[in-house]
Amino acid sequence: MSLESDLTGRSGGMCELCGMQNARTACDVPPSADGSADTAILVCRTCLKGITGELVDNPHWRCLTEAVWSPHAPVQVTCYRLLQRLAAEPWARDTLEIVYLEPDVLAWAERSSEPGDLPEIIHRDAHGSVLAAGDTVTLIKDLVVKGGGFTAKRGTSVRGIALVPDNETQIEGRVNGQRIVILTEFTKKSA
Ligand SMILES: [Zn+2]
Repeated sequence: MSLESDLTGRSGGMCELCGMQNARTACDVPPSADGSADTAILVCRTCLKGITGELVDNPHWRCLTEAVWSPHAPVQVTCYRLLQRLAAEPWARDTLEIVYLEPDVLAWAERSSEPGDLPEIIHRDAHGSVLAAGDTVTLIKDLVVKGGGFTAKRGTSVRGIALVPDNETQIEGRVNGQRIVILTEFTKKSA
């Protein structure tokens, strides 16, 4: 039996998050997915997009308020993680407050993913060069530093940058002795 057929048997062919018929995609639930139905769920395209890519609050995701009560741990874990990503929304917070996960399931849900499990975030400068932590960049535009009371001048060299982990458009660096967030589009990597 393939993973897909195991999952289809479990779910009746419905997306295990939103209930859409004819869901066909088996989606591993990291980390340590072992390729079995115990660490995977069957999802539709819409749900897969939210899991693997950008997640924007819309009525579709209200399905999570029910799906999180699924008897299947990988479904619970996926719902829990999606709800956490949506936790800016009151309905998602409310759901997270009342939901109960067995301790081992909760530990799984909260275990951070292994590298490569999430869509990879790559920081690039204005010219598309890949930026790494510790690089030196040059500002290509005068930047008014909000709350800093100064302007970081075009041409300023910023050494030893840090990458903002969950946002590929932002890096951090020290200018005028202050640690500031800089948009990658206004930087050029120094050779
Ligand atoms: Zn779905």
